[in-house]
Amino acid sequence: MKLFKCQACGQDVYFENRFCGSCGHALGFLPNAGVMTAVEPEGDAWRALTPKRPKLRYCANITPDACNWLIPAEHDEKFCLACRHNRTIPDLSVEINLLHWRKMEFAKHRLFYTLIALRLPLKDLNEDPDHGLAFDFLAEDPGKKSIILTGHDTGLITINLKEADDAVREKLRTEMHEPYRTLLGHFRHEVGHHFWDILVRDAGRLDECRAIFGDDSEDYGEALKRHYAEGAPANWQDSFISAYATAHPWEDFAETWAHYLHIVDTLETASAFGLRIHPATTKNKALHADIVFDPHNAPSMQRIIEAWLPLTFAMNSLNRSMGHADLYPFILSGPVIKKLTFIHEIIRASAVADKPKKRALFRRIAASQPPSQPPAPPGGPAPPPPAGPDIPAPMDPVVDPPIDPPDQPPPVESPPDDMPPEISPPAPEEIPQPMHVS
Ligand SMILES: [Zn+2]
Ligand SMILES: [Zn+2]
Ligand SMILES: [Zn+2]
Repeated sequence: MKLFKCQACGQDVYFENRFCGSCGHALGFLPNAGVMTAVEPEGDAWRALTPKRPKLRYCANITPDACNWLIPAEHDEKFCLACRHNRTIPDLSVEINLLHWRKMEFAKHRLFYTLIALRLPLKDLNEDPDHGLAFDFLAEDPGKKSIILTGHDTGLITINLKEADDAVREKLRTEMHEPYRTLLGHFRHEVGHHFWDILVRDAGRLDECRAIFGDDSEDYGEALKRHYAEGAPANWQDSFISAYATAHPWEDFAETWAHYLHIVDTLETASAFGLRIHPATTKNKALHADIVFDPHNAPSMQRIIEAWLPLTFAMNSLNRSMGHADLYPFILSGPVIKKLTFIHEIIRASAVADKPKKRALFRRIAASQPPSQPPAPPGGPAPPPPAGPDIPAPMDPVVDPPIDPPDQPPPVESPPDDMPPEISPPAPEEIPQPMHVS
C-alpha cells in the first residue's frame, strides 16, 4: 500500500485514519483517485483538499466507525465502493459483533484497495444479481448448534465473524497447523474463488488453468474429505504454496491468488518506504533488490519475484530479531512461481481490458517519503500532490518465459506461534446502528 499524507499539514497518515493526528483535519479515502484526502466541512457535505477539490460525502458506514471512504456528493449511493458489496452485516447492537465487524471491515477495505489498484472488475449485487461480489458477515447464535463456514459460492463470500476474535483465530491456526492465518488472508483467499469464476472459467481459460493447477472437475467434496482425513502429501512444498492448496485445484488457485495479493501489496509498501535490500554478507544478486517499481503494473512476475525474495529474507530476519514469527513463512518453489505467473497474466489481461480512463487511478508513490510519524511540521500547508499521474500507462500483458526458480532465502523452519500485531481500530464515535442489509 502507498503512504498517504494529510494535504492540510503534510503529516503522514495511515489508510485507516479518520483524523489527522497533527492538524486535526478530518480524513477519508478517495477510491477513484487512490488517495487519502483531508476534507473540510461545506454545508452538509465535505470539500477535499486534493487539487480538484471535489465535494464529497462519507460512506454511511462511518457511523459505526467501520469505514472512512468517501463518495462524490452528487452520487446517490449510501455506501462506498467497498461497503456496497456487503449483503449482510451482523446485529451491531451486540457490542462484540460491532468490535469484530470493524476488524473485518478494516481487512476488507485493504482487500478492496488492492482489487482497485489491480483494476479488477468489481460488480456488486445491484450491478450483477447473478454473480456480483457480495459479503455476508454472520455471527453464530450461541443458542444454536449451527456452524457458519467461511467460504465462497458464486460471488457470495460468507465470513464467520468469530474469526475476528484473535484467540479463536489463533486456536484454529494452531489446530490446522497453519503458519499464517489473518482476516486479510481470508479475504484474499475467498475473493480468489470469485475471480477464478470470472477470469478463468468465464474468460475461456480453463484449459490453461488446468494445465497448471490440475483438473478442477475432481469432486470437490470428496477432495476436501480426503484432505482432512489424510493431510497433504509429504513433499507438498515442492509444488504448492500451502498444505491446504493440495486439497483441490480450486483451493490451490485461491491460495496462490491470495499470495499474489499479499506480494503486490507488501511490495508497494516497501516501495513507498524506499526500501533497498543490500546485505553486506553476500554478492549473490538474488538477495539484493531496489524496490522502485509499482507492483500493480509490473511487466512480469519475474520482476516481482526478483524483488520479493530478498524482501522476505530481510523481513523474516527483522521479525526474528523481535522474537516474532516469520512475516512470510512460505517457500516459492518453481511450480508455485509458475502458478503465480499465470495469475499475474490473467490479472494483467483483465487490467489492460479495463477502460483507459481508469488507468490513472493509482499513482506511484515517490521512492523517498519522510517517516510515517515525523515531528509535527513547522506550520503552513504542505504543497499539494501533483495533479497528473506519474506512472506510465500499463503495458500490454506479457507472457513471461518459464522462470527458473531463483536462489531462495533460507527455508522457513518451524514457524513460531506468534503473529504480527494488528492495528487497533479507533474508538467508536457514535452509537452503533442496528443491523442493515445493503
Ligand atoms: Zn494534517
Ligand atoms: Zn464504506
Ligand atoms: Zn477456498
